[in-house]
Amino acid sequence: MPRAVIPRLDPLANVDPSVGRFAAELRRSGYRGQISTDHASRLSAATDNSIYQVLPAAVLFPRTTADVALALKLIDEPRFHAVSVTARGGGTGTNGQALTSGVVLDLSRHMAKIVALDLEGGSVTVQPGVVLDDLNAYLEPHGVYFAPSLSPSNRATIGGMIATDASGEGSRVHGKTAEHILELEVVLRGGLVHRTARVAGAGLDDACARPDLIGQAHKLAVEIATSRRDDIARTFPKLRRYMTGYNLARMASSDGSTVDLAWLLAGSEGSLGVVTEARLRLTRLERHRALFVLRYPDFDAALASAQWIVGTDPEAVETVDETVLVLARGDVIYHKVRDFLADPEGQTTRAINLVEFRTHDEASLKAKVDALVAELGRRRGAPGGPHGHTVVWDAAGRQSLWNLRKKGVGLLGNAPGARKPVPFVEDTVVPPEHLAAYVREFRALLDAEGLRYGMFGHVDVGCLHVRPALDLKDPEDEARVRRITAEVTALVTRYGGLLWGEHGKGFRSELVPHHFGPVLYPELQRIKALFDPRNQLNPGKIATPAGGSYALARIDGPTRGALDRQIARSDRELLPVVIHCNGNGQCFDTSTDSVMCPSSKITRDRIHSPKGRATLMREWLRLLGHRGMSATAMLAVDGRLPWIARLWQGLARVGRSGDFSHEVYDAMSGCLACKACATQCPVRVDVPDFRAQFLELYHRRYARPLGDYFTARLERMLPLMAAAPRLANALTGSALGRWVTWLVAGIADAPLLDPVRAPERLARHGIPCSRLNDLERLPKDGRVVVVLQDAFTTFYEPAVLEASCRLLRVLGYEPHVLPYFDNGKALHIKGFLQAFGRVVSRNTELLRGIAALGFPLVGIEPAVALTYRDEYPKQLQAETGFRVWLLQEWLAEQDLSAPRHAVRAGSAGGGFSLLSHCTEQALVARAPEQWARVFGALGVPLELLKSGCCGMCGVYGHEVAHKQDSLGIFALSWKGKIDQRERDRVLVTGHSCRTQIERVMGFTPRHPAQALLSALDS
Ligand SMILES: Cc1cc2nc3c(=O)[nH]c(=O)nc-3n(C[C@H](O)[C@H](O)[C@H](O)COP(=O)(O)OP(=O)(O)OC[C@H]3O[C@@H](n4cnc5c(N)ncnc54)[C@H](O)[C@@H]3O)c2cc1C
Ligand code: SF4
Ligand code: SF4
Repeated sequence: MPRAVIPRLDPLANVDPSVGRFAAELRRSGYRGQISTDHASRLSAATDNSIYQVLPAAVLFPRTTADVALALKLIDEPRFHAVSVTARGGGTGTNGQALTSGVVLDLSRHMAKIVALDLEGGSVTVQPGVVLDDLNAYLEPHGVYFAPSLSPSNRATIGGMIATDASGEGSRVHGKTAEHILELEVVLRGGLVHRTARVAGAGLDDACARPDLIGQAHKLAVEIATSRRDDIARTFPKLRRYMTGYNLARMASSDGSTVDLAWLLAGSEGSLGVVTEARLRLTRLERHRALFVLRYPDFDAALASAQWIVGTDPEAVETVDETVLVLARGDVIYHKVRDFLADPEGQTTRAINLVEFRTHDEASLKAKVDALVAELGRRRGAPGGPHGHTVVWDAAGRQSLWNLRKKGVGLLGNAPGARKPVPFVEDTVVPPEHLAAYVREFRALLDAEGLRYGMFGHVDVGCLHVRPALDLKDPEDEARVRRITAEVTALVTRYGGLLWGEHGKGFRSELVPHHFGPVLYPELQRIKALFDPRNQLNPGKIATPAGGSYALARIDGPTRGALDRQIARSDRELLPVVIHCNGNGQCFDTSTDSVMCPSSKITRDRIHSPKGRATLMREWLRLLGHRGMSATAMLAVDGRLPWIARLWQGLARVGRSGDFSHEVYDAMSGCLACKACATQCPVRVDVPDFRAQFLELYHRRYARPLGDYFTARLERMLPLMAAAPRLANALTGSALGRWVTWLVAGIADAPLLDPVRAPERLARHGIPCSRLNDLERLPKDGRVVVVLQDAFTTFYEPAVLEASCRLLRVLGYEPHVLPYFDNGKALHIKGFLQAFGRVVSRNTELLRGIAALGFPLVGIEPAVALTYRDEYPKQLQAETGFRVWLLQEWLAEQDLSAPRHAVRAGSAGGGFSLLSHCTEQALVARAPEQWARVFGALGVPLELLKSGCCGMCGVYGHEVAHKQDSLGIFALSWKGKIDQRERDRVLVTGHSCRTQIERVMGFTPRHPAQALLSALDS
């Protein structure tokens, strides 16, 4: 019989004593940032999007340049020579660039401010932690932008972009990041803070005359550029995606007359110094844009046509292959792009090219578009041409298509099976004219290995993304990484290209000597020796210091697969999303109007993101595996410690017993259970799902907080309280009542019950409350709609339930309300999985019976209604056999113009603006548009507002522990939108969101059904 209770889990890695002393000394020296040595923080910096996992010794979160300088000054002291430092930004590297067993310097949390904008001088100054999309959103109203781009633009930082010399779509025109740097502030060896500048003439003489590192660096740059001029010209390929690393070709002119150290630092992956500020060149925004979607019968044809498309001078040409297109069909993004990807009659699209034109005036745009249309006409029917095309003019359509392209990597991560596409040869670049031939050989190489792969990329510059699917938990597949890398390196070299056309080197650094050659690589080592003689800055990356016996990072470095292999097989199989989080960081999205992870947005703490939670859970499963245990096996059996033991363990927890399970618990408790990760993450890492499993097991050992029982049982308690709502409100609303709820249940400002009970409201309008046997007697004339009650609308806002039923009636239907029953969502959220299982079985039986009668089942509160579709089948491990529709989802399917519904709004007095519940947006991507369709059909204008989470999300925002974060989340996205609108024009679909608005802004907005009803009545 497997054991049912988790053991105490000690992290297996202790903090290196020298790092402990370094951290202590840092604190004593006036360092103002945070220093984290807990296992969870270290784990959250142990991965990026690569195949590697390396646990750092500590993570620092500096606040200022002075903090960074202090850290670098200290490691220069002999007593700390064993300590190394690696800068980290968004952690989106694909090759372990920011991974280290030393100390991580995370600049993304506090050093993320836009410092100055100089529109006249055409520059913006930023701290390194600023995220690219945030910078461009700030610049947009000024008609300018930072032109270098990259796919993870909503989470990659400017510091990381500089350090990898990043580039993406549009690089044929705009080049790489280094080409847009005006000045860098960097912290160098010994804590020296330097501001780079392009120097020539007397300025260069002065720089070279300096007695310090800066003087030596300028002199060395001149010496190498002039003495190695011919080797540099021969070795650096003439590609738009030029060779990165230490950029010998650009750090100084070949005659040695100018030097700009920014060119040396850009692309150096933090191995020479830490960037703490950057002045960047601005580009005028091209406001006129058009995007062609060219559809092809095969990938080769799409690649081959890139060459003639470039002749029409587009901003970007990007290819996506069939593997990615097929995976996109299952993604939330697909409904927005499906019309652009439609197959022509009798043909199948197996690849697309996205071709974008951008200009400053309409006439030039039209001329460019016409030229491509004419070229397409000339090529119609010719072999290898596209078999269809669409020109997309509207911004939303273009954005959706680019999002599809940007999601390519993530989507590949969602491919079925244990073998997942992984990055290690994912960004090769060859001269564009050789791309098609090169790709043919590349594919033959992968086919010979019997591997699946997806391909997409920047074909206008010859850069292709290829991720072969491997299961790195399998040692044989792990060995393939080296074999395939060697073969691809040879292939790409034969075609005059590079292994790293985009993402940098990281653990591929062992191949730097191959690409730079025996003459230039030693020059890189001289540079490294000057800047970092003891190999303390991101050691192993790009070059080792000359004269030392240090090693370069190797491609078969410490892989994540080797650690995941230690997890029990049953856990790997039954908790696949935990294992398959590929670290692409989509969940770090900082955009305030996206639903993706509100807890990550408000804390900026990686632990409180889906990736952070999945990483901790993986480690937790690994530590269990080490003890020969499996979480899924434990879940399958009943059992817990006696209550006294749980209470004792829970109390011991207060004093911190060092059990890693507590760190996982803390990470899980910050989750709002909004479900955004379950759909917005390309791999569908569903945190609430595995959180429930974790909590169930955690609380078999540790006593629960009393508040958990209160929340979990609330659905059952409410009918009792609602028997005398005024009395219940008087008790809970009194000072004593509020204090007791705060103390015992951990709940702040609990909402009050509606004094007029739902049955009375329904009875006033003659809306029947019907049981199964009543429903059995009803005619099947297509008019009956069965409405489900939920705790929120029934007890707190019965007016919404009433309005929804009345609306259905006005539209010609006959609503029947089912008697109230608890749905179990709160039990699931708090991890009472066994109790939840019982509720699911009971409700499923009832709802199956009603569904069998053929009547539609409609729910009003989205978060509750969607539980029937999301958590129920997972709990049952089978289809439920019934479907609960959202109100608008069902109405949008009806023909509301048919005679029996033929009602139109009277003078609605203008339109409305809709804000949707985050869970609804996450699980039913079309939900807001469905309301728009219903409103449109009834003649009422509705504006859809793009928004994130309101911060309330069920009980989360009411919990004392989360109230501040909840209010902070509300301020991020919702508050501004509501402030800009007339209050009675704002409509809100979720009960939680209406409660939050009431709490913060002092008014309760209407549900769309209420607004429609009054518009139709007027
Ligand atoms: C899905 C996906 C798609 C991608 N697409 C592209 C793409 O289109 N184009 C592209 O170029 N890359 C792409 N990448 C790779 C990655 O996003 C880039 O390399 C990016 O520039 C890394 O930024 P970051 O903030 O995440 O840096 P991190 O990954 O945190 O760090 C990257 C490197 O920069 C160093 N570093 C970070 N901050 C500093 C600093 N302040 N000072 C000194 N060194 C620093 C780190 O030490 C590390 O060596 C992609 C990655 C993913 C996951
Ligand atoms: S949780 Fe999802 S979005 Fe976040 S890093 Fe993992 S796979 Fe990517
Ligand atoms: S459910 Fe929401 S808050 Fe929780 S991890 Fe997922 S996205 Fe973040």
